[in-house]
Amino acid sequence: MSRKVLIIDSVATNRIVLRVKMKAAQYDVVAFPNCNEADPHVRSDPPDLLLINLSDPTEDRYAFCRRLRSDNATANLGIIALGMDDTAKARFAALDAGADEVLPSPLNDSLLLARVRHLLRRRNLYQEWTMQDGTNASFGWEEERAESLTPAAVLLLSDNPVTSVDLSALLQAGLGHAVRQLPATRVLTSTPPMRVPDLYVIDASDAHNRPDRLMQLVSDLHGCAERRFAGRMVILPRNRPDLAALFLDLGADDVVDTQVAAPEIGLRARNLLRHKARQDRMRERVRDGLTASVTDCLTGLRNRRYAEQHLYRIAQQAHEAHCDYALMMLDIDHFKQINDRYGHAAGDAVLKQLALRLTRCFRKIDLIARMGGEEFLVAMPRTTAQEAALAAERLRHVVDATPFSTGPGGPTVNVTISIGVAVDEPDTPLPPSLGEMLDRADGALYAAKSAGRNKVQLHLAA
Ligand code: GH3
Ligand code: MG
Ligand code: MG
Repeated sequence: MSRKVLIIDSVATNRIVLRVKMKAAQYDVVAFPNCNEADPHVRSDPPDLLLINLSDPTEDRYAFCRRLRSDNATANLGIIALGMDDTAKARFAALDAGADEVLPSPLNDSLLLARVRHLLRRRNLYQEWTMQDGTNASFGWEEERAESLTPAAVLLLSDNPVTSVDLSALLQAGLGHAVRQLPATRVLTSTPPMRVPDLYVIDASDAHNRPDRLMQLVSDLHGCAERRFAGRMVILPRNRPDLAALFLDLGADDVVDTQVAAPEIGLRARNLLRHKARQDRMRERVRDGLTASVTDCLTGLRNRRYAEQHLYRIAQQAHEAHCDYALMMLDIDHFKQINDRYGHAAGDAVLKQLALRLTRCFRKIDLIARMGGEEFLVAMPRTTAQEAALAAERLRHVVDATPFSTGPGGPTVNVTISIGVAVDEPDTPLPPSLGEMLDRADGALYAAKSAGRNKVQLHLAA
């Protein structure tokens, strides 16, 4: 899918030059002379990246950037500010208004394109997470800005005893709290700490000499499973846009030069921390969503959908390892009467308590699932017929022995269950399929019901 870049610049020749550069890199381009004309377009069809010349005094383009950041629809849009003086004050103002990067004139083409690629990669990431998340929620910039991002774990990686002292002081002044420090050579060889840093700041200020080792480090941090979600900021020697572009393409999230002032490095670091926090939250929500989709919401047990997948794995592992495994189907006896007599809420309360008793009765490796209604399944890896029968009898007793509550202040009720058990024993000439195992457990449960309920019935091989 082609990415769309929107250009805002009052000078026609600037627009043409930028358009040519972006087109040559295969991006779709739209260009406007001012924010007013661009605004409806940004709202109706948000671009993936904005290149905005902030030097125009006829309109408040800083306010325009701020508004884009606070609007959920454009909060994740990459913004590159152009056309300003290369002073600490001008850069800070642009970053503070929400720009991801400031590229002063004259533009360095390879650095511009590396920044564009980096911001589009980040945008891809957000879009993938948002798609998986399904809730399609995005986060406003301002609301996060208010959120406390400290104490974040920031780790300075430096092999240079001279520059590391200055950098550490600079970061501390910019962030307002202490940062930890480690020799760059040690970060990948030492075991990851309990809390992986949120941001790595890599001192490449003497990268004139041997940048390849530090490039390797950035790329390794980017590729490392435990560390890849942390931000990566690289400190470079002054006036080395070629190195900056290389580091960005290797996985740096931001590059600054050694002359950077404390407020700017603090702001940039906080921006990276905010992106990290936002991505952490998105990953968490996707994980929560996945968990919710395999969980029964009344009892908190696994649902049928999960059980079917997991059972398949249990059966396969048992066959591969030549081990027994047992299945237990259980069903509450005359459950309808509980509903009829005490109400549906009482029925729900009984189901929840049964789930709790089930969880306490079995091992961690056993799968306990609610298959629907008042029917549950327990799958027990590495379990013989004798062990399964004992476990089933113990469960039957745990249910039968203590009455169930029907709710706060309500009466208690006696509950019984019927259980059918099937066991797949290793090295039988014709091992049953999973479907057969489920049929056997079901058949045994039916037999237990027929035999008068509150019984355990083992499937007996013909
Ligand atoms: P048996 O001993 O033969 O199993 O009889 P039973 O009454 O337990 O079985 P039946 O299939 O006749 O009734 C099951 C009842 O379970 C009917 C249904 O309304 C109720 N039920 C199913 N799901 C829920 C639920 O989530 N909450 C409550 N409270 N009741 C449920
Ligand atoms: Mg029942
Ligand atoms: Mg039933």
